[in-house]
Amino acid sequence: MKKIFYLFALIAFTLTSCDKNEYSADAISVPKKAVANAEEVILSNAEKTIQIQNDILSKAENYLGKMNAKGKSSIQRAKMATDSTAIIEKLDSLTEVFKNQRPAAIERLFDENDVPSGLTETNQFIVVGDDNLIDKADPENALMLSNIVRVSKGLGPIDATSQKVRGIFKSKNGFTTSDDKRWDGGKIPYQFDSNITETERTFIRTSYNDWNTKSGGKVTFSEVSNNWWDNFLYAIGFKCFVKIKKETLDAGIAGVANGCGKSGWAWIKYSPTYISSYRTVVHEMGHKLGLQHEHQRPDRDSYLTVNKTGSQYNKIEEKYARFLWWRWKTRSVTYSSTYDYMSIMHYQNGYDSSIGNYWFTNKSGGYLSTGGTTISDVDAEFIKTLY
Ligand SMILES: [Zn+2]
Repeated sequence: MKKIFYLFALIAFTLTSCDKNEYSADAISVPKKAVANAEEVILSNAEKTIQIQNDILSKAENYLGKMNAKGKSSIQRAKMATDSTAIIEKLDSLTEVFKNQRPAAIERLFDENDVPSGLTETNQFIVVGDDNLIDKADPENALMLSNIVRVSKGLGPIDATSQKVRGIFKSKNGFTTSDDKRWDGGKIPYQFDSNITETERTFIRTSYNDWNTKSGGKVTFSEVSNNWWDNFLYAIGFKCFVKIKKETLDAGIAGVANGCGKSGWAWIKYSPTYISSYRTVVHEMGHKLGLQHEHQRPDRDSYLTVNKTGSQYNKIEEKYARFLWWRWKTRSVTYSSTYDYMSIMHYQNGYDSSIGNYWFTNKSGGYLSTGGTTISDVDAEFIKTLY
């Protein structure tokens, strides 16, 4: 299955995010069992993580206070930190404490053979489609993931306004129940990894800017500078930015994006081959803005036939999708009334010789052109409704 998948992977733009180790692990025939009461463990881990974050932040602020830095702006603090090896070392050591103390991701939320269709599970992530990762260790995702697990067991979703949930997610720093993960004010800070060339940076900046232009300025992108205090806040999860990475990914994998929450920074990884591909660059940022794959809309079977077998192109069932799409707190899936075949978030069609057909056909079995090379008008309209 995986071999067949890789054979055709190059045709698609964005593919699975699992790393090789996880694929090797998948080859072991012992089925992986879900953690009992996973939904409760997720919430409990989130609670612990938030407590540790608060504790670490208090310690850092106390320390900076003693160093006479507390009343200063973050820029002044950063300047002091740059000038002070002691402060840098202290913040680094607190970051290490956070990393060591925070609970690890639950390896299995679902029995291996019982993962909801449209999702795959790795040790660290729930993968939506192929390239959109939901970090299981991120407290921001805890409520959403708990509810997906609960619904898979036939239980009702947790009431996000319940005393229990509010108790977990309420903190002095304004951590909320977090069912709305839009970027505050539509502002997306990002930072390039050092191995990305100037030419590539210019291309990525220009490409991202198309989201700005087409959304009528609803989303804006700005590069964050290297700043010790901000980096500390990012590392312990009180600020978020998108780290843009260039890495050799598994064969055929173009790019992947993980979620952004209060657990450190989000990232987008581009393979060196695709870092200059407009569609890949813009598509991955689309995920970061909150867009899911158009061909995974729960109602997509009304509009086309997906001929590829296996989990990769399965639809996300309505009962799970409502937790994954933006505005899920309305308890309904929200997307355009138009099925957007040429969305930048729709995979491009390709021929799969293992089934002797194209991945996507129209309802009469005919070829369909899917997956546009630019941000479609519907994509742009949707972003405007989100921000
Ligand atoms: Zn994608």
